[in-house]
Amino acid sequence: MDTQANPLAFNDGWQYAPAPESTDHIRIDKKYDLFIGGEFVAPSSGSWFETVNPANEKVLSRVALAGDADVDRAVTAARKAFRGWSKMKAGERGKYIYRIARMLQERAREFATIETLDGGKPIRESRDIDIPLAAAHFFYYAGWADKLEYAFPGRRALPLGVAGQVIPWNFPLLMAAWKLAPALACGNTVVLKPAETTPLTALKLAELIRDAGLPPGVVNIVTGAGETGAALVRHPGIDKVAFTGSTAVGRLIMKALAGSKKKYTLELGGKAANIIFEDAALDQAVEGIVNGIFFNQGHVCCAGSRLYVQESVADEVVRKLKDRMETLIVGDPLDKNTDIGAINSAEQLGTIESYLKVGRDEGAEVYQSSCALPDKGYWCRPTLFTGVSQSNRVVQEEIFGPVLAVQTFRTMEEGLAKANNTPYGLSGGVWTDKGAKIFKMTRGLRAGVVWANTFNKFDPASPFGGYKESGVGREGGLHGLDAYVKLEA
Ligand code: NDP
Repeated sequence: MDTQANPLAFNDGWQYAPAPESTDHIRIDKKYDLFIGGEFVAPSSGSWFETVNPANEKVLSRVALAGDADVDRAVTAARKAFRGWSKMKAGERGKYIYRIARMLQERAREFATIETLDGGKPIRESRDIDIPLAAAHFFYYAGWADKLEYAFPGRRALPLGVAGQVIPWNFPLLMAAWKLAPALACGNTVVLKPAETTPLTALKLAELIRDAGLPPGVVNIVTGAGETGAALVRHPGIDKVAFTGSTAVGRLIMKALAGSKKKYTLELGGKAANIIFEDAALDQAVEGIVNGIFFNQGHVCCAGSRLYVQESVADEVVRKLKDRMETLIVGDPLDKNTDIGAINSAEQLGTIESYLKVGRDEGAEVYQSSCALPDKGYWCRPTLFTGVSQSNRVVQEEIFGPVLAVQTFRTMEEGLAKANNTPYGLSGGVWTDKGAKIFKMTRGLRAGVVWANTFNKFDPASPFGGYKESGVGREGGLHGLDAYVKLEA
């Protein structure tokens, strides 16, 4: 891999020395079984699948493929554990969740390295964002476990039962934490299905949960592909489904759940507008644009993938943005200098490349930074589309890669109308010096989360979720508790 491919060399002739994170301190087994009833058990399907490092295409491990019978076994184990876990003193439940949070902090370096190897994201992000935020979620919800009467004053909050949880590959451990922590704090037991391409940190979390002494069956982890997720969703022993992933699969899940008594939350796709007014601090805004779309290779449901710039500053912003894109380091995700890591899978790279072609065919101008890419692995240069219109597919559809569509607007009303012209409604960003504009825009944007003069900031205490085709329900904060309880007067 060409770790010397530093585009700063174009600017002033010097390069960062390679600073790779060591992998000596981690252990990845050759093969992983399913985590059911507090122990690792072989799948009755008798099948395992490979998980690869997308930065070099090398196989990291083989992971069990859970079939219907395995999902049934996991749901049965969760049901059996529910009685004891839901009756346990809430403070004791909280202690277990605190223990998970602390152990995650203690083993943060190991988890960050494995997350980067399995998913391709830069070590700087897994180290500074994914793993600390995952621990923060466990800490936050551990604190709520014995305070539900304050979360829902005047009502009794009872657990729902067994939660079936299906998560995607973009933030594997963080999504597991978003799902597990509130469910456990409210007294539910869980069967979790990680994404096929990124199962390793969930399996490491299974080891950690076992080491934390959680009663067997409270958390069960079944690995597999979409079929395993579908089997979990339709299992009659599930009381609640929590899903994060694509809108297409979200639709299938809604259909499968229609007519059942299962509660559900769906956190689906997005196509967020990042709106830059002429009075914004433009250099800061450019950093916000970069963070909005190139963070995690753009594999972010709330990514700022549509940029709207006020016409009077559009040329200046695009020029500054292109300059900044030239300095982004694309390459070895384990290198601490890397800004943009590997695309998560060959399949996702294929999807992104097909959208690059769609954009060209639609008449967009395509700009990509000139950095060198490693020979092996899955890579995409940071990309801009300009000269696009509202009806273009690259403006309407979620690409889920480091690809930004740029448009302009003249008035606030026009900016708002264009920003809301999308089937999605997950997030948005506004950059301006004027507080009144921020209030007007945030009120007018039909999006679950709106950032002002910043982007992609997360906190366990903040609710997160979308309108329209971006989903149903909220996760995080008090709202996240609500999704895991039934309330009695
Ligand atoms: P999916 O929605 O296919 O996957 C999300 C999770 O659901 C995975 O664990 C997946 O398993 C599982 N799954 C797949 N099919 C079913 C089913 N029929 N019933 C139940 N569970 C199922 O997303 P992809 O990973 O295929 O990504 C495709 C697109 O989804 C992306 O390009 C992006 O647009 C969007 N996406 C949005 C995310 C978000 O955070 N909002 C996150 C990830 C993707 P498996 O991985 O094994 O297929």
